Amino acid sequence: LETATADIIGAEEQHVAHNYHPLPVVVSRGEGSWVTDIEGRRYLDLLSAYSALNFGHRHPALVAAATEQLGRLTLTSRAFHNDKLGSFAAALSDLSGKDMVLPMNTGAEAVETGIKVARAWAYRVKGVAPDAARIIVAAGNFHGRTTTIVGFSDDPQARDGFGPYAGGFTMVPYGDAAALEAAIDENTAAVLIEPIQGEGGVIIPPDGYLRAVREACTANNVLFIADEIQSGLGRVGTTFACDREGVVPDLYLLGKALGGGIIPLSAVVGDRDVLGVIHPGEHGSTFGGNPLAAAVGTTVVEMLASGEFQQRALALGEHLQAQLESLIGSGVTAIRVAGLWAGVDIDPAVGTGREVAEKLLARGVLVKDTHGQTIRMAPPLVIRSTEIDWAIEQLKVVLAG
Ligand code: PLP
Repeated sequence: LETATADIIGAEEQHVAHNYHPLPVVVSRGEGSWVTDIEGRRYLDLLSAYSALNFGHRHPALVAAATEQLGRLTLTSRAFHNDKLGSFAAALSDLSGKDMVLPMNTGAEAVETGIKVARAWAYRVKGVAPDAARIIVAAGNFHGRTTTIVGFSDDPQARDGFGPYAGGFTMVPYGDAAALEAAIDENTAAVLIEPIQGEGGVIIPPDGYLRAVREACTANNVLFIADEIQSGLGRVGTTFACDREGVVPDLYLLGKALGGGIIPLSAVVGDRDVLGVIHPGEHGSTFGGNPLAAAVGTTVVEMLASGEFQQRALALGEHLQAQLESLIGSGVTAIRVAGLWAGVDIDPAVGTGREVAEKLLARGVLVKDTHGQTIRMAPPLVIRSTEIDWAIEQLKVVLAG
């Protein structure tokens, strides 16, 4: 490594807790699908900050919205109204076909909020006995890093050593609607699932699963909470991954791309009969609903309302899928693709996912490994098809050793 790069990484290692193991690149600029490191080398970003950069780095419309708002007002707290939150919530409700929004900041906070809303709904509307409410989750889930959330993870790295865990969760296999329905009882408040499991390695459930989950929830008076924090907002070629099966959950959990890659912004979106259970003083966040995030989020919603990015994800995703399919048997054992989102399983004979990511880095392509043998690709939706071709060429070279 060059001295400057090594110095910066060394400072991080000294003074930043080792809760991540980043690839050895120090990025200092970004534009569209590309980033530049401090040595001036350029890289094609196929991770998009785990889909938080669906619109690419520094999309001009988003930078303009943020800059304009920075010149006027950034934070009020919700002790007062600000002139941006209401219109943002109206636009996001409209995009989602729902009544209202509860704004937060990070994805994990949106998940925690969804859990609280579901429990409040169970006690106040459904009539579940005090403290008896249960939420059904899926094996292989990833919903964030808070103590409650890691308590219902089955990933030992995420969970082990962080107990005691919060109760009230039941785990069922992912993709098995019959098992899920069998786990529902009179105390079940909600089912919380990712429509496609992102951190799990872009795991796409069998066709009809989301519809069957919807039907089971409706038939048993249970809320369907879709964690669309990574899968939603254009990534899979539709606004929400649930749209692929024409399914509408009771609550959408949104985050990542909602803040345009500029500012943390998450939300729980639902109808009044559910979100209306929360009363003043029962939930909140100092930064949740701040006008800077709302201004950026409003522009994100406007961009998605045009359908342009969903279209791009669909068309470019087909292109990516065709290219990846040609690699099966040549260093790739399996692929899973939804829109412009791919899990690529690397043949262990070639190396681990991490090793492939490191070799791609050396060739100017940024990806992230997950669960050992998988690399995940989630390019910005503004990427060009020729750029995808170039990235696949680099992957071919790496796979060929
Ligand atoms: N839910 C899903 C599906 C995610 O993929 C993630 C992050 O990867 C989260 C929740 C947590 O989001 P955050 O890291 O913003 O807390």
